[in-house]
Amino acid sequence: MKLSELFGKKIPTLSFEVFPPKTSGNYDTVKTATAEIAKLKPDFMSVTCGAGGKTDIYTADIAASLSRDYGVTSIAHMTCVGTSRENAEKRIRELEKLGIENILALRGDIPDGFDINKCDFRHASELTAFVKSISDICVGGACYPECHPEAANINEDISHIKEKVNAGCEFLTTQMFFDNNIFYKYLCKLRDAGINTPVVAGIMPITHASQVERAVKLSGSCMPSRFLDIVDRFGSDAAAMKQAGIIYATEQIIDLLANGINAVHVYSMNKPDVAAKIQENLSCIIPSAGVSVQDRHALF
Ligand code: FAD
Repeated sequence: MKLSELFGKKIPTLSFEVFPPKTSGNYDTVKTATAEIAKLKPDFMSVTCGAGGKTDIYTADIAASLSRDYGVTSIAHMTCVGTSRENAEKRIRELEKLGIENILALRGDIPDGFDINKCDFRHASELTAFVKSISDICVGGACYPECHPEAANINEDISHIKEKVNAGCEFLTTQMFFDNNIFYKYLCKLRDAGINTPVVAGIMPITHASQVERAVKLSGSCMPSRFLDIVDRFGSDAAAMKQAGIIYATEQIIDLLANGINAVHVYSMNKPDVAAKIQENLSCIIPSAGVSVQDRHALF
């Protein structure tokens, strides 16, 4: 199913993410984790890609297996930094052949010393326009409630998001955030800028204290003191931190749903137990979570 169609139904959706292995040695572990998350029957699952397209083969394989073997709609991430138009087209044709109907079109991080101006694609909007010019695959893009680190300010960043949408991006998925108020303000800014595509809220359950620094570095997110207190108090107790992190993420999701945000994506990071617990926590709030996509839509 195309995600544009799914979001068009305006029902609450819960989705999970997996990332591919860096090497073939870890592939079986990733496949097992993917299968366990897929068995939860989320509305869709995203499969990330590694920097420089090195893991693209796994991304495509996992995304194809999700729909073929588990009946779960998938979205394959695709970066374009350093990719030629010819290779991008080859990749899109491969994804089409595998029956993948959705991609998240990304620029990717620019490697040190790399001259992006010499590349076929300089921004995700250029990849988006390219995909839409050769395929009817559904294209989503990334957005940043706390501003992309390279942008001078949030208004400039949003003007580039608008270019991405004008190029054919059909929905946006946010970078992780830990303070819902930041997301609500950002959503208002997007709407004020005339960006009316569905926006999927990205929630990262922090289940280890060690993830905090990495998450802040990766996303530039600010951690609310309420969350830092949790890490201070429970960070040295693995089981307590995991439970508290899952509850914090669940509370964020409940607040989003209560405020009319329908699409929630959990950065489940190949952790089936975390995905399952969050889904269970929401079992009465999204009563149909876990029901197959087809049956689920019949409920509404
Ligand atoms: P862009 O949309 O191109 O934006 C990048 C920067 O360029 C922004 O600062 C923007 O304001 C600016 N910009 C855009 N257009 C213009 C223009 N015309 N002129 C001047 N400046 C412009 N990375 C991976 O490697 N693999 C993944 O699977 C992956 N998945 C992700 C999923 C999500 C939901 C998110 C939020 C990020 C993901 N990333 C992933 C990280 C992403 O690749 C980086 O954040 C990257 O630095 C930017 O990618 P982008 O697609 O947002 O780029």
